[in-house]
Amino acid sequence: MVFCAFLGLVAAGLSRAETPKIVASIKPVHSLVAGVTDGITGAPYLLVRGYASPHALALRPSDASALASAKIVFWIGPAMERFLERPLAALATRARIVALIEASRVRRLRSAGAYDPHIWLDPGNAKAMVRAIAAALSVADPNNSGRYRANADRLGGRLNRLDAEIAQTLEPVRSAPYVVLHDAYRYFGQRYRLNQVAAASVGSQDRPGARHLIQVRKRLRQTGARCLFHEPGKSLGLANTIVRGTSARIAVLDPIGVDIKPGRDAYFTIMRRMARSFKNCLVSPPARPKP
Ligand SMILES: [Zn+2]
Repeated sequence: MVFCAFLGLVAAGLSRAETPKIVASIKPVHSLVAGVTDGITGAPYLLVRGYASPHALALRPSDASALASAKIVFWIGPAMERFLERPLAALATRARIVALIEASRVRRLRSAGAYDPHIWLDPGNAKAMVRAIAAALSVADPNNSGRYRANADRLGGRLNRLDAEIAQTLEPVRSAPYVVLHDAYRYFGQRYRLNQVAAASVGSQDRPGARHLIQVRKRLRQTGARCLFHEPGKSLGLANTIVRGTSARIAVLDPIGVDIKPGRDAYFTIMRRMARSFKNCLVSPPARPKP
């Protein structure tokens, strides 16, 4: 009896050991990895949860132990998840580290000399990321390479349909000017030919300088921008300062899906919700100027 239970434990340990332990940094990346590994491995471990900032996260002990036992880690790269740079460097000899910003066929935009790291907000890039995820997993776990590839193909088809759907959603608001607080939406804006006229915070800076703020307010007034987009969990103070005296509305965009359930559908929910936020704010007629 005891011996059988022991054998059972050993068998469970072995079957878990057959597929690699996977860690993913942010929810959109985790979602694409979950899609590629669906039905093959256990759920990947997600590091950045809830309202935590992907640019600066304090690792918890559970995160550190997940990283320590990981066989493969997926992240965007040091320009995005700065907090991971050092832990991953320490891990590099034991685990495969995949920086998706370097994946082939990812279209990268320059921002102040470096690459803008918010690459996942273009479904074309998500497809390239999915291919890179499947390729890395196939090397780490060659027995399942055919299954990773089959999942990646299916996911690619789903991403194509998502892309077409978002393009259709946004078609009526393509020329409508808007301003963003966090300069994270250039990939999304370019993909769907939207009309961003200014961004308040450039790069990882949270608080823009006074001179830049004056320029942003000027751009907003001159272009008649209808919307200023801020993000969940951020104070409204800065947004209110920028729109004061104009007819622009304040609306929310959420690039990492702070309150969305992690999993293979999360990426699609994040992107659909973003398209709806853009559309809902930009289609409505200008509000009355706020005093
Ligand atoms: Zn950002």
